[in-house]
This record gives sequence, C-alpha cells and structure tokens, in this order.
Amino acid sequence: MTDPLNHSYYAATAHKWQQHYDTQGDLNCDVAVIGGGFTGLSAALACAERGFSVILVEAEQIGFGASGRNGGQLIPGLRWTTSELEAEFGRERADALFDLCWRDNRVQARIAKHGIDCDLKAGHLEAAWTPKDFDAMRREADYLATRFDYETDIIAKAAMGSHIASPLYHGGVYDAHAGHFHPLNYAIGLAEAADKVGVRILEGQRASWNHEGNDSKLSAGESKIDARYIVNATDSWIGDVEPDLGRYTVPIMNYNIATAPLANADALLPSDAAVADSRFVLNYFRLSADKRLIFGGGERYSQTPPRDIAAFVRPFMAEVFPQIADTKIDYGWGGAVAVTMNRLPHIGRRGNVFFAHGFSGHGALVTTLAGELIAEAMAGTAERFDVLANLPSRPFPGGKWLRRPLATLGLLYYAMKDRLG
Ligand SMILES: Cc1cc2nc3c(=O)[nH]c(=O)nc-3n(C[C@H](O)[C@H](O)[C@H](O)COP(=O)(O)OP(=O)(O)OC[C@H]3O[C@@H](n4cnc5c(N)ncnc54)[C@H](O)[C@@H]3O)c2cc1C
Repeated sequence: MTDPLNHSYYAATAHKWQQHYDTQGDLNCDVAVIGGGFTGLSAALACAERGFSVILVEAEQIGFGASGRNGGQLIPGLRWTTSELEAEFGRERADALFDLCWRDNRVQARIAKHGIDCDLKAGHLEAAWTPKDFDAMRREADYLATRFDYETDIIAKAAMGSHIASPLYHGGVYDAHAGHFHPLNYAIGLAEAADKVGVRILEGQRASWNHEGNDSKLSAGESKIDARYIVNATDSWIGDVEPDLGRYTVPIMNYNIATAPLANADALLPSDAAVADSRFVLNYFRLSADKRLIFGGGERYSQTPPRDIAAFVRPFMAEVFPQIADTKIDYGWGGAVAVTMNRLPHIGRRGNVFFAHGFSGHGALVTTLAGELIAEAMAGTAERFDVLANLPSRPFPGGKWLRRPLATLGLLYYAMKDRLG
C-alpha cells in the first residue's frame, strides 16, 4: 500500500488479492458503487446477489480506507445505548434498531457464508474508566437483559483480572456476542465473494461525479460510467465526491500500533476478548492471531500525523499495561474516523444515489448491514433501510473551512472534561 499512514500490521499480513486495475472505454451497469471499504463491498456483493450488474470503483486498493486499518473490534449496536435510543425515539423504533444493529450480526453471516479467513474471535469487554462509568454500564446491561433478552456479563472490579491484567479499570461488561477480527482480510474476503458473483472491481480509479443541470455524470479515470443507481460509500472522502454530504461528517485521525509478538500475551488478556474503555478519547486493544497487542489510543484533531506514530500511542498503552511499557513496537498506522454531529451514522437516498457514512468509530459491524440494506431498498423493499435512514442527522455548522475547527473545539472540550474526571 502506498499511504505512509498504512504501515499497518494488517497490510503486512493481508491475504493475497489479485488487484483489478483493468478498465477502459465507457461502461454501463445497473449499480455503480464508489468506495471499496466494508460499506461499498457489502453493497456491491448484495446488489450482485440480487441480480443487478455492478461496477465497484475504488480510488486506491480494496480496504484502503478505515475498513482496512481499524481496531477490528466488532461491537454490536450504535454509538448510542439502547436506552438512549428508546428515550429519544420510542419503543417501536428502538425495537427495530435493536433487531437490526444488535441482534442481526451480518458480518458473522458473511464470514460463514463465504468461508472468509479473517481471524474471527468472540468476546468483547467494555472497561469502566471511573466508578460512575461502571454504574452506567451495569444499568445498561440490566436494561439489555430485561428489555431485549440480550445477556452480557457484568464484571466487578475484583473479577476484572480474568479478562485484563491492568489495575486501571473499575469493572466492566463482557459481551460474548461481540468479537474481533482482521479487518483487511475481511474486506478482501468480501471482495473475493463479490468478484465471484460478477461484480466488476476497478481499483486505482478515482470516481468523480459532475453535475450538469439535472444530469449527473459519473466517471472513473478516463471512463464514463452510465449507471441506474449509484452507491456513495466513500466515508471520510464523501465530500470530495458530493460536497453537500461532506457537511455531515468531520474526519478525526486515530492511531494504532502492533507490538512484536508477546510471550506474555495470554496473561495480559486472559479471555482473549477485545477491550474498549469508557474514556471520551478511548483506548481500545486486542490480541492478534499471532499474539501481538494491537492498541489504539489518542486522537489528533489535526490532519497531520505524528512524526512517530509508535511514540505517540506508546504512552497510552503503557498507562494501561505498565508491564509492557518498553516492549518493541513493529507497526504504527492511522486512519480517519468519519464522525457525525450526533454520532449516529448518516444513511439515506437522494434520487438514484444511496449513501451511508459517518459510523463514528462504530462501523466494523454496521457497515456490512448498511450495504445489504441499500441493496434491499434498491430491489424495492425499503422498510429496514428506512429504520437507519430515518435516524436524525444534521450538518456540522460552518462552511468548508470553519467546519473542522468548530467540531475540533467541541471534541477538545469533551476530551479535557474526561481528563479532569
Ligand atoms: C483507526 C481506526 C480505528 C477504528 N476502529 C474501529 C473498531 O475497532 N470498531 C469499529 O466498529 N469501527 C472502527 N473504526 C471505524 C470503521 O473502520 C469505519 O466505520 C468503517 O470501516 C467505514 O467503512 P466504509 O466502507 O464506509 O469506509 P472506508 O473503509 O473508509 O472506505 C471508503 C473507500 O472509498 C474510497 N474512495 C474515496 N474516495 C473515492 C473516490 N472518489 N473514488 C473511488 N473510491 C474512493 C477510499 O479509498 C476507501 O477505500 C475505526 C476507524 C479507524 C480509522
């Protein structure tokens, strides 16, 4: 991969994928998908399975964006808790959101259906940074169990050692329905499945979309693409393709490291669960298949990456695991998380264009679902798509230049509040 930010463990351990650079001449299809991340790949695959002819255009390589470089944590649901969703939207909508985003694990279904080899493991621990956070987690776990029959384990502070060898946390909730995986190999697995059902994949082709009066023309490189439907699945880059949609998200840079394989890996995370803590700028970590600690921590509100990513993330890791403070770090990489104003994804349809973006750091599971719901809506059944499309959304204030600084100020405020306790 060409991006210096993608010196990632995932790129180094990716399955072989025969890149698809062939194109030329004008093309036509039922559905043109822009973006080869989880959203675009899932939409392309699901559309082709429904009999549409599909072209997927990816500016770089499959999995180049957030999908190929994320923390690999598969956490059911959205950034809002189920009780927050019910308080805001009422019982019926909360039920529908729960059925889609918590109950129906489309990633597991895809992995099973296509036999995707992506180091899938079960188990996720949400770790409480403060006693107050633990109280809130406990209440939510009780609510999930009584209201939705969704069982998790509440872990008292004294029992946290069975999951994590860190003294920092005040308790947690373990969810056996959740898990973790190698995200780039999952993306490649989806691409292989899409290829097999006839999706024409064009990598290294940046799509652009020119509006001329009521007419809009899609092109990729030198080729014009004539499509009945377009799926804009470009997440952090969505504003480059469609400026108006770009107003709904800001990109926040987030960084990960992978240590060298650790002899004491099983002692650090005895249940092999992925862990995310409850800080506003959260720490999240897990073990890879070859026993490295993959650790994400610290956000940067500037687009410029730190000169030394390992040095930037190491203090966060050392705070959680002082016992490996000086361990060797083999990889450091980063990516942009597209965040919406309310942290709920922005999904919808404008004429013949479908879009889904702004998963706000919680997209590893829901993006596959979003892609499948787009295909379902395109084929004429929009009921489930509308459950997500009806989530409220609002553009960030400020024009192109002010939007990011204003959003950054808000995020810095919450990060500071978190640090002050
Ligand atoms: C560092 C990091 C850690 C994260 N950790 C987690 C986690 O642990 N759990 C979780 O649930 N979520 C996590 N996320 C969020 C999650 O990865 C994203 O929500 C999800 O991958 C978004 O997928 P996507 O397909 O919508 O976008 P992307 O994967 O970003 O794909 C968009 C694609 O569009 C392509 N593109 C852009 N413009 C064009 C164009 N003009 N023409 C053609 N192609 C174009 C890009 O090259 C890119 O490949 C993390 C994100 C980051 C960055």
